[in-house]
Parts: sequence; structure tokens; C-alpha cells
Amino acid sequence: MYETSRLIHWTDVGPRDGLQNVSGTVPTEVKVRLVRGLLDAGAPRVEATSFVSPRRVPQLADAAAVLAALGDEVRGRLRVLIPNRRGFEMALDAGVRNVLVTVGATESFNRRNVNRSVAESLEDIAAITAAAAPAGCVVDVALSVCWGCPFEGDVPPRRVVELCAEIAARGAAEVGIADTIGVAEPARVSALCAEVAAVVPLERLSLHVHDTRGQGVANVLAAYQAGVRRFEGSVGGLGGCPFAPRATGNVCSEDALLALHAAGAESGIDLDAYCAVAERLGEDLGTTLPGRLHRAGVWHPGRVGAATTGVADG
Ligand code: MG
Repeated sequence: MYETSRLIHWTDVGPRDGLQNVSGTVPTEVKVRLVRGLLDAGAPRVEATSFVSPRRVPQLADAAAVLAALGDEVRGRLRVLIPNRRGFEMALDAGVRNVLVTVGATESFNRRNVNRSVAESLEDIAAITAAAAPAGCVVDVALSVCWGCPFEGDVPPRRVVELCAEIAARGAAEVGIADTIGVAEPARVSALCAEVAAVVPLERLSLHVHDTRGQGVANVLAAYQAGVRRFEGSVGGLGGCPFAPRATGNVCSEDALLALHAAGAESGIDLDAYCAVAERLGEDLGTTLPGRLHRAGVWHPGRVGAATTGVADG
């Protein structure tokens, strides 16, 4: 009998996808501490920052400084977002060897996000993967708004499948499907993952969902049950997308990992340590992050008395 691996690969995108939406300036040292904390808690990979225009995303203007402070020893576990060829060159100069490029599943979203047609973005991806290979750099590609677009509404699943095949053919190591505005439900996640798996091998397929409508953890679990093993989320549930109106809420990494672990998945991540990172980040940002687990605490049945939530209420 064929047995699907229980090993999952989690990428925390909080330092990039989360912090880019924080109003005000977050000190570089806070970002560095956050990335280190996530790596120390066992996150296999962290999306540390992005080389986008500082005019568009001023929160990440210190990308090179963050990477320099993190040092060479963790570089192999970091990924950065790049919008174009220029961002790619900057990432290479900073010593990065894993980049993420995004393309929208609709013309309107892609135009709004990177001011390119989808066809132009696919050409850019081919050029970047061609330049990356001799530099020993791995290029991942994420397809945005796969379950719905804020400007065009429905996105036909066959269009998503077609674009995933185009992306894979252009040399992307990982092909990510993203619910950028958080409109998917578990049934549609299962269905689309199964369809995309016909054109992208499951070991190269990744899922990025938002918890905007409360479906985030359920959607991650649905994808796991459909055979997906690569996932992205944000510590504490930090962040959204600045170019998609009202799209708050990356799925919270530790909340989703709790459900995945209970379903038998192995991530290598220590949830208590992860919660401590979320707690500290909330303090650093002067806010309460939307994730649940870091507020309630990990439930350890052998340590009754340590958990506090709801004990006195029956
Ligand atoms: Mg996101």
C-alpha cells in the first residue's frame, strides 16, 4: 500500500508577509530577533524579508540590513520575496539562495500587484529561473488569488491549473497556490489541490491561505489530507496583503501546526517555543496578535494545572 509521508515543510512568512502590513516602522533588531526565534523553534524555513521598492513597501526597506545581521550560518533556511529581476539581483548580492516570485491568477490582480500582464510575469519568471540556476539559487513561485480575486471575482479552477503548469514548466522549484483574500473553504481547497496535483508533483506543491473568514486552519488540514506537504503561514497570524483590499489574516502558523500535528503530521517545530515567539512579537509591536494558541497556551494533558483558560468556568 502506498503510504504518504507524514513529514511536512512549514515556511513562516510572518517577517515578510506579516510585517509588511504593520503600520509604522519596526526596528531591524526586532525583525532579526523574530527570524532567529522562528528558526530556533524549528521552522524549517523563514521568509525573512523582500527586495521590493521601499517606496511601495517602506516597512521592508531594511532588507539588506536584516539579512546581514542574520549572518551566513542560517542563510540556507531563509527565503526572500522578489518582485522582478532587479530584486533578484539584490537578493543574490545579499547572499540569498532561495527567492519567491509571485504572479496573480487574474490580469487585474497581477497588474495591481506588479504592474505586468500575466504573460509578462511568466516571461520574467523564465528569465529569473534561467539566471538563478548558474548562481545556485532556487526560485519558488506563488500564484495569488487562486480561489477568488478582489477585482474579478471567481477564478476558474482550470485557469489555476493551466497557470500552475506554465509556472512549473518555467523551472519553479516550488509552485504555491494562494488564497490571498481568504475566500476558500475546505471543500474547494481539497478539490483544487487534487486538480493542481495532476500538473505539479505534490512534493513541489505549496499552500498559502488566509484566515480572513475563519477557514484557515480547516483549509490547511484539507490540503494535508489531499496530500499537500508544503505550507506557509504567519507566526501569531500576523499580516495580510497591502494590495488586496480588506484581505487581513495569514493563517496562524502555530494554530495550523497544532491541527496538523494532531492529524499525524511531523514538522520538527516546537509549539511551546513558537508560542513564545508570537508572545514576544506581540509585545514588540505593542499589540495582541490574532492567533489563538499563543494566547491560550499549548495543552499538555500531563501537566494539568499549567493551563489556565476556562478552568474556573467548567
Ligand atoms: Mg499572505
